[in-house]
Order: sequence, then C-alpha cells, then structure tokens
Amino acid sequence: MTRKAIFPGSFDPFTNGHLDTVTRAASLFDDVIIACMTNIKKHPLFSADEKQALIQAAVADLPNVKVVALPHQLTVAFAQSLGAQYMVRGLRSPQDFAYEADVATINSQLAPQVETVFLLADPKYRNLSSSMVKEVASFGADVSKLVPANIAQALSEKFGGDHHA
Ligand code: ADP
Repeated sequence: MTRKAIFPGSFDPFTNGHLDTVTRAASLFDDVIIACMTNIKKHPLFSADEKQALIQAAVADLPNVKVVALPHQLTVAFAQSLGAQYMVRGLRSPQDFAYEADVATINSQLAPQVETVFLLADPKYRNLSSSMVKEVASFGADVSKLVPANIAQALSEKFGGDHHA
C-alpha cells in the first residue's frame, strides 16, 4: 500500500526549517503532499496561490512531494479525502509540543485513521519561524540563509527592498 502523508501548515513563508522537515518526510513516505493553509488571523503575507507556486519551485528536487492549497475544511478531513494515512508536523520546542499534542489528540478522535507523525526540528532550525523571517525581511535585511533562494527573492519583492540589502 502506498504510504501517503500530508504536511499542512501556513508556510507564510516556507523556510529552510520547513524544507528540512519535508525532505525528511519524503524519505519516510511514498508520497508527501504539502497543504498550505491561509489563516486570516495570522495576517498572511502571501496568498494561497503565491505560496503554492513558491513552494512547488522550492521542492522541485523532491519528486514525491506535491503542493496543494488547503481548502476551507478540517485538515484531517482533507487528509482523508486525499487518501493520506499520515499527517506530518514539525516540533521545535516544548511550546510546539504542548500545542501540537492538543491538536493531534482532537484529530485522532475525529479521524483515527490518520496518524500524526512528529519530526523533531533540526537544532539548526529550532529558532526559525515564518514570523521571524517576515519581521527580518520587512526591514529589508538579508534572509537568504533562512529560506530557499526563490522565497528570499519573493520576500524582497514584497517588501520592495534590494535582495542583497
Ligand atoms: P502552522 O500555522 O500550521 O503552525 P507553520 O507554517 O508555522 O504553520 O508550520 C507548519 C509546520 O512546520 C508545523 O508543524 C511547524 O511546527 C513546522 N515548522 C515550523 N518551523 C519549523 C522549523 N524551523 N523546523 C522544523 N519544522 C518547522
């Protein structure tokens, strides 16, 4: 049976931490589907379509990874509609664990067929978050060590700065 995993997230923007998690997931599962959600409450910088195109380009080297926009629906319901048996989440900290454990518990009650699998963030990326990247980029500073090259370019276009500033 094909082992299919969904990796849901806001990815606003997709960082090197997300890339590391999805690269590791791609070696564990036959197919990995990145599902980008757009959470209005988190003041999104990129639209769902922009994120999908940017992430697709950033993961072009991973043949078993696809990117889709998450429809307005429960993530586990969407996972089931795709036939995914696993949901991947990254853990950076005890705070991530506390939140993720609650979400995974509810999800396992809603859809026991979908197993949440946690991948511990690489220590290099434990302090890396999309919100921190946005903050740094908004000042026109260089984020090329924090995100894939095409995302750094898109951020500098969004903030109207020089890519090398
Ligand atoms: P969400 O709004 O769903 O938390 P994020 O885009 O912030 O969306 O994160 C998506 C997933 O990626 C989450 O499981 C999160 O823990 C994980 N993640 C975020 N940043 C990193 C990182 N630096 N290293 C590894 N995993 C990460």
